[in-house]
Amino acid sequence: MSATLVTVSYVGAAILFILSLGGLSHPESSRRGNVYGIIGMIIAVIATVAGPNVTASGYPWIIAAMVVGATIGLYAARVVKMTQMPELVAIMHSLVGLAAVLVGFANYIDPAASAHYHGAEKTIHEIEIYIGILIGAVTFSGSVIAFGKLSAKISGKPVLLPGRHLINLAGLLIVIWFGARFVGSASIPAGMFALIVMTVIALAFGVHMVMAIGGADMPVVVSMLNSYSGWAAAATGFMLSNDLLIVTGALVGSSGAILSYIMCRAMNRHFLAVIAGGFGTEGGTPAAGGGAAAGEVFPISAPETADLLRNAKNVIIVPGYGMAVAQAQHTVYEITKYLRDNGVKVRFGIHPVAGRMPGHMNVLLAEAKVPYDIVLEMDEINEDFPDTDVAMVIGANDIVNPAALEDPSSPIAGMPVLEVWHAKTSIVMKRSMASGYAGVDNPLFYKENNRMLFGDAKKMLEEVFVALKG
Ligand code: NDP
Repeated sequence: MSATLVTVSYVGAAILFILSLGGLSHPESSRRGNVYGIIGMIIAVIATVAGPNVTASGYPWIIAAMVVGATIGLYAARVVKMTQMPELVAIMHSLVGLAAVLVGFANYIDPAASAHYHGAEKTIHEIEIYIGILIGAVTFSGSVIAFGKLSAKISGKPVLLPGRHLINLAGLLIVIWFGARFVGSASIPAGMFALIVMTVIALAFGVHMVMAIGGADMPVVVSMLNSYSGWAAAATGFMLSNDLLIVTGALVGSSGAILSYIMCRAMNRHFLAVIAGGFGTEGGTPAAGGGAAAGEVFPISAPETADLLRNAKNVIIVPGYGMAVAQAQHTVYEITKYLRDNGVKVRFGIHPVAGRMPGHMNVLLAEAKVPYDIVLEMDEINEDFPDTDVAMVIGANDIVNPAALEDPSSPIAGMPVLEVWHAKTSIVMKRSMASGYAGVDNPLFYKENNRMLFGDAKKMLEEVFVALKG
């Protein structure tokens, strides 16, 4: 394939990636967005493999790598559960970071890759390598820790080293100092030392940064690492002089940055404050899960819940992580359909950080074919709770915790929440009194107009459905 044809293919692929992002911005067009992305990626891979930069001797390696990668991808797609998607995404981000690091080192030691650079061009190429490895290493180690936290292999509690900001600052200064030495280095071994020191510091920084972030602030970290993985890919594009990789990386990097901003706004946090870490450390009432309950709770049975729903005019359903765990979305749909057919107004209230990844609840509800027009954002529905007869909370906890508004010492203080307690009756469906991701008790459970429907969300909803129909 000629260089011109490769360029044309790259432009086509870049347009398809932009259309893909546009499509993914709404559930209705997301399927189309995915198709654009897949076609764009196929064009990109074919154009790159068949392009002038790949020689015949490289084909066996490329084919072998693609077979291994595709096998792992297909296997993961089949076995990974919906609830494990966030950690899968995190570990995939880590691979982008690792690729940037490896490409950076390979690029530096391969004489053919840099022999044709001289003077200012050589300096720019070395800066690309240095920054590419830096971003890649932070993305890699940060994503591995995020994977550990999201899969509960590592505690969600923030780990705060004394003088952590000073440690970060010292790390940054050392990285800049070695950067200056690297760029001017006379030989590869001399530059290699600076590169290795920087890589070690960047890896440590990634670990330190994500370890310092408190449970409820993880959504920002997930979207931020998403953004970093894009910048790491763009940096790889600069190192390899691959325009499509630069464009694609920039698209991922900037959309991830916008998502981080949206998440921060949803949680009423300042981006820099989250990155500096330390939220979720002091204060807050610990969860009542293991110890004594912090008040009286009023349990309710499935038939009583069905009665309340049947007699309601207005119902708002608030799904959370537990709905994903129980895979209760299809039963939720059945109940919604039944109630709507019987004249009850049913709507859904979606918190921006519900579940464990952005858009988690929307994906599940779309999968269960819940109509999009009754699925509303938190801001669109929060004022409607006082006119609501029943607010049904399905496996959600932190996103309906009034302590966020009422207790300034709570680790989630300041985060806007769905104010279900303003409804005539709120029903919380969960298995126990255990806390949610942020690890704090929820005063909602003890409110007089709140009822607890204990049990697995799917099982309880099935019982409610049977009682409704009966
Ligand atoms: P939470 O984690 O706060 O609460 C989920 C609740 O679901 C738990 O209290 C649990 O209680 C219950 N549950 C679990 N399994 C079941 C089941 N099978 N049946 C019924 N209930 C079940 O989830 P929310 O969605 O309310 O809040 C999301 C939290 O996750 C926030 O703190 C957010 O910051 C954080 N987060 C969000 C990310 C995102 O991008 N959306 C990313 C990372 C973190 P019990 O064990 O008693 O059943």
